[in-house]
Amino acid sequence: MGINILWDQQYSPGLSLPVSRLIAMLLERDTELVEYPVLIEGYDRERDQHDAQKILDRLQNTVVRRYGIQEPLLFVTARDLFVQNCDFVFGLARPSAGVAVVSAARLENGYYNRTQSDQDTIDRLAKEGAHEIGHLLGLGHCSDTECIMYRPATLDELDRKKKQFCPACRAALPVSSGQ
Ligand SMILES: [Zn+2]
Ligand SMILES: [Zn+2]
Repeated sequence: MGINILWDQQYSPGLSLPVSRLIAMLLERDTELVEYPVLIEGYDRERDQHDAQKILDRLQNTVVRRYGIQEPLLFVTARDLFVQNCDFVFGLARPSAGVAVVSAARLENGYYNRTQSDQDTIDRLAKEGAHEIGHLLGLGHCSDTECIMYRPATLDELDRKKKQFCPACRAALPVSSGQ
């Protein structure tokens, strides 16, 4: 089973291939950069953020349904995301629909007044992207702070995660038919 990656056209296109390749490596699954027209909804003017649930609604109700997508779909965007009762989220998954979103907004060094680094952004997007796809493949959160499925509250916690699943999470991943 492969992974579809839909890249927000408004976000650095040069990062799409390295992120896609790293996610494929982490999950040991093929990834494919796909292009579908998608109208992004859920912008909240007061918060200057997007409601992640509304983005998933749109992915589920138009993209997945209209194009009959069977495999997990990850949307990568730079729009800052929130969910109810949460100031922000790095990403969100809806396993019942096979769709997930990850945001680069708080993954870039510039957001924290640190020196910009594409490699840092690529690593973080891949870790969080693989984390959300992990949910789509049936995994829950992990207490191992170095595991991809650990839920980081901060950028530093995210950076502390390794670019790998712990043995238990790795074993829980469904076997890819492509292997
Ligand atoms: Zn999670
Ligand atoms: Zn784990």
